[in-house]
Amino acid sequence: MENKFIRKNYIKNIKRVVVKIGTSTLTYSNGLLNLNRIELLVRQLSDLHNRGIEIILVSSGAIGAGIGKLGLNSKPKTIPEKQAAAAIGQGILLHMYEKVFSEYSKTIAQILLTREDMMDRTRFLNARNALFTLLDKDIIPIINENDAIVVDEIKFGDNDTLSSLVSSLVEADLLIILSDIDGLYDCDPHTNKSAKLFDLIEKITPEIEKMAGGAGSNLGTGGMATKIKAGKIATSSGTDMVIVNGSRNNILQSVLDGENVGTWFKSKNAPLAAKKRWIAFNSNIKGNLIVDKGACEALCSCQKSLLASGILSIEGTFDKGESVSIKDENNKELARGLVNYNSKELNLIKGLKSCEFESKINHNDYDEVIHKNNLVLMK
Ligand code: GLU
Repeated sequence: MENKFIRKNYIKNIKRVVVKIGTSTLTYSNGLLNLNRIELLVRQLSDLHNRGIEIILVSSGAIGAGIGKLGLNSKPKTIPEKQAAAAIGQGILLHMYEKVFSEYSKTIAQILLTREDMMDRTRFLNARNALFTLLDKDIIPIINENDAIVVDEIKFGDNDTLSSLVSSLVEADLLIILSDIDGLYDCDPHTNKSAKLFDLIEKITPEIEKMAGGAGSNLGTGGMATKIKAGKIATSSGTDMVIVNGSRNNILQSVLDGENVGTWFKSKNAPLAAKKRWIAFNSNIKGNLIVDKGACEALCSCQKSLLASGILSIEGTFDKGESVSIKDENNKELARGLVNYNSKELNLIKGLKSCEFESKINHNDYDEVIHKNNLVLMK
């Protein structure tokens, strides 16, 4: 018989938690900080820390606080102005956290990340080492995107995604997303009084994604689509995720007391290994390999390596060791992986057996184009 998931049992094993706080939870609509809310949240975080739980805070609010300080009525339009607002606001935010956390004798540290830090394997591991060192020293890291130096094209874009990548980076047990809504509903609770709140999501299916405001739906509420995307990253990485309303009293305590608040997303039983998580969610995808039906079957059903014989075409320019996406003939992504041959070589050996490589590219160092150890299914 299937084991029923009971939060009270599960939370006993939680040691490391990432908490994501959004701008709407931290600031008023004029951009000024909601001091009362911040104080209550910091008090709860400090109390959880006193229980022995490691806390990593992913906090938005830099641009919002910068707007408040500059007395602007709305978000700046140009990139340099947004960057300037973030540079001003990040200081204000950290000053506030420093002040309030110090009242509870907690030491905090700031880490500002960019997508490039996550895409480059060495920088990714450096960030991980820095975070583990801080946690070892009982410090609460506070993370945000380095908005002052990144432009839209290379951004994480939203801190829901950033918090899930951080959860994967530090192998957190739980990601708590503080939202302005109670969790995931089956339809928009603002317009439909009978909307039902989900207590538990065992698997993020295409239906769930649609409910959250994916393509073809107009039910998206409170930025739910990015939260579900974050849920997919977190749950594939072995981190459970819960979406709760950040304005409810003692909400963090309620979560960690195992009360049935918000919507809980269960992590997968067989999470991806660390390197595979990096390939799937962090690496920079440099091109596409379009594969035939036989290769689709070999990858998806038999979890085999990708061979050149199943490759129909190559898109993009990439080197050996870089990440590519593997797609079927309908352009549906099946997997991602690190290639053993560069794009120029692959264009010459596609469709061939490995014993035929030598005559085309003067070597056949690898039988596989992507070894199964460097390949992650994305379905
Ligand atoms: N990093 C942005 C900020 O601090 C927020 C991004 C988001 O709202 O998700 O203003």
